[in-house]
Amino acid sequence: MKIVKMEAFGVRVPLVPERHMITSLGQHTVSEYVLVRVLTDDGIEGAGEATVSPRWSGETVWGCLALIDRILAPAVIGCDPHNIAEIDSRMDKSCQMNWFAKSAIEMACWDIQGKAAGKPVYELLGGPHRHLTIRSRYSMGAYDVDRAKRRAAELIHEGFRTIKVKVGLDPKTDVERVRGVRETIGPEVDLMIDANCGWTADVAIDCLRQLADCRLTFVEQPTPDGDYAAMARVRRETGCKILADDICFDLVHAQELIRNECCDAISLYPGKNGGIRKACLIADYAEKHGIPCSIGSNLELDVGTAAMGHFVLGSRNMKVEDIPGDLLGPAYHEFSIVKNPLDIKGPLTTVPDRPGLGIEVDWDLVRKHPVP
Ligand SMILES: [Mg+2]
Repeated sequence: MKIVKMEAFGVRVPLVPERHMITSLGQHTVSEYVLVRVLTDDGIEGAGEATVSPRWSGETVWGCLALIDRILAPAVIGCDPHNIAEIDSRMDKSCQMNWFAKSAIEMACWDIQGKAAGKPVYELLGGPHRHLTIRSRYSMGAYDVDRAKRRAAELIHEGFRTIKVKVGLDPKTDVERVRGVRETIGPEVDLMIDANCGWTADVAIDCLRQLADCRLTFVEQPTPDGDYAAMARVRRETGCKILADDICFDLVHAQELIRNECCDAISLYPGKNGGIRKACLIADYAEKHGIPCSIGSNLELDVGTAAMGHFVLGSRNMKVEDIPGDLLGPAYHEFSIVKNPLDIKGPLTTVPDRPGLGIEVDWDLVRKHPVP
């Protein structure tokens, strides 16, 4: 089987207002992503999604479309979609970074493989290692204290058992927001925070000391990208459990995190890590060093979220039972661009057991919602 053609489309889907995301990186109120359609010589096609975000990974819709058309598609057309290592190698030789663009093509190849074999992608990865229905945490934006408390009460009512609150903006308000949410949800519900690189080590240590009585189960990415020493210091001096996220795109980053004793767990997902295969390699490496992993998110639509779900089921070290992650992206959006949306009820997402990623993109609908 050979890849013969690739098409890429920009797509624009607004978020529902009560789920607008506010982080130290800014506001996310509308998703402008790229969907990729990979066609093969025997008629099987696959779909992939690049959740590009200029503020998160530096990738844009327009750059991603040009990169796929002009660089990545020419590099992999003619390859067998079963040979993911070769496809990764060709993409990596043709351009640096651009993790999300590469992952869209890679997940489409897994989709094709699964459809050809009549098996869901998690089976191709050696799974399922856990139940197909996965419980997520809820990731709440850095709202003002009153809105955060109101939202937290709603989330408990919807059945969430773990809430993650965004911080990393103004330290004083950050502390008040987290404390307000803890007071609202009571002592039993698990509470995590995520600074998205927004604090320095000094600010993080100060805030975490003030929040010492709030029983934070994990502190995600408190310090800047690339600063392994800062993250290790926060972990050492506060004793908090640290979840690395925005600092870990590839295997070398994971090696540095572990070598420098920066974290207790690593957040992974196919988009950020350049594809399902590469995310699996990082999870396996972390497992050998006793570090569990969980699933992170960039608010994916159905295709990207399905790829994440298959990865969670296919990798033994994706310990979402102990460290709930994010598989709720489609629920943040006003509409779905697929014919068979993922089954998401409150905190529970069920990964499809259909062949491939188990998702059928409505390409006509995608064309109706282009990025201007
Ligand atoms: Mg994060």
